[in-house]
Amino acid sequence: MTVTRFPPSPTGYLHIGGARTAFYSWLHARQNNGRFVLRIEDTDLERSTQESVQAILDGMQWLGLDYDEGPYYQTQRFDRYKEVIADLLAAGHAYHCECSKERLDAMREEQKANGLKPKYDGRCRELGLADADNTVVRFKNPLTGDVVIEDMVKGNIVISNHELDDLVIARPDGVPTYNLTVVVDDMDMGITHVIRGDDHINNTPRQINILRALGAELPRYGHVPMILGQDGARLSKRHGAVSVMQYRDEGYLPEALLNYLVRLGWSHGDQELFTQQELLDLFRIEDVSRAPSAFNPEKLLWVNQEKIKQLSAAELLDKSAWYFKQAGIQVEETAESVAVIDLIKERCKTLLDVVTQSQWYFCAVSEYDAAAVKKWIKPGTSEILSTLIGKLADVSDWTADNIQHCVQQTVDAHEVGFAKVAQPVRIAVTGGTNSPSIDATLAILGSAETLKRLRAGLAAFV
Ligand code: GLU
Repeated sequence: MTVTRFPPSPTGYLHIGGARTAFYSWLHARQNNGRFVLRIEDTDLERSTQESVQAILDGMQWLGLDYDEGPYYQTQRFDRYKEVIADLLAAGHAYHCECSKERLDAMREEQKANGLKPKYDGRCRELGLADADNTVVRFKNPLTGDVVIEDMVKGNIVISNHELDDLVIARPDGVPTYNLTVVVDDMDMGITHVIRGDDHINNTPRQINILRALGAELPRYGHVPMILGQDGARLSKRHGAVSVMQYRDEGYLPEALLNYLVRLGWSHGDQELFTQQELLDLFRIEDVSRAPSAFNPEKLLWVNQEKIKQLSAAELLDKSAWYFKQAGIQVEETAESVAVIDLIKERCKTLLDVVTQSQWYFCAVSEYDAAAVKKWIKPGTSEILSTLIGKLADVSDWTADNIQHCVQQTVDAHEVGFAKVAQPVRIAVTGGTNSPSIDATLAILGSAETLKRLRAGLAAFV
């Protein structure tokens, strides 16, 4: 059975790099009928916070990355780590080391001065020291041979054991170190595929050696290249890379963000848009590119717009409900409100756009866009609006065609361009000039509301 995991450290929000590796792991588990485990690596007590844990859980939920096990918390597993450290000591795979910081620093300096790679010299390796207040526990890394990682993304990677030193696996206070906790968890949780960022690639041979010492079955590894900013540097806050929840706040669909992220570093011909089912069918971790890819916010926005276009108006209204609520706008799902969404759908790149583009329908106009008023409300506008109001008031069958006819008659009567009628009408009924075609807008608003707003505009503009 395939078991993958996502093990974030709760030292910040869930960022898009994490979301991408989580999604790759999730896909790999789901497409193999496997299990996906969430593990919170919170052993760094100073940097881990409850808010980060919550931010990660919220992010996973918003993205729809459901997990079958967990969240496990490493801080709740200290007894187990201690047990494994004791086992490694008892089996001769680990030893107590009393080397002082001063000694280690001096050794490192000397090695550097001699052009050597800094590495613990193994002084305490065979001393058989007992546990003491000042001792750490080191793993006895094999002295000879190679570690071969058959990486699912990067291909074969060979590291000589000679390059690796005897890693500290427990600090003097007995607290286990990062590589030890990861190994114990991956072993205990039966992880079969470790998919993670390639910033962890240096840890992998060490983890493999510890797993071997424990007699554990090795997982397969897949190291995914980093996401870069457009300047080629590793993606960071500086590039506007933010928490996945900020993308929610900005009106991105989770499926758009995931679609965009999966494509960063993976492709299927030149297809850009995928349904989740297509990704489950087509994605292969082995096909992820070995080279890093650059984050492109415009492309993400494009994917979002395309995903919005693919939704029916009713679906779009449903997905926008949270945004209307945030804006304090009450929206019921009725045939009319769905029709409004249908009318403005083409104009929306984000779910926030859905709110701004449609709020003229759901809310009374509370103010008029000053720049629009300055541009379009001129001497003569009142007469134009009065003419139109008179004509519209006589329409008994309130259809777009009949409305259009009234607008055209007003244009003809005043011998002005179409915009000189349409724009003041838009300002009066929506507050600004950004709305769908005038006949469709008025048709959906209804006769009574249209006349009310036009009259209010007429009064306000003079
Ligand atoms: N906790 C590590 C991180 O957030 C993940 C390590 C791993 O995937 O093995 O970078």
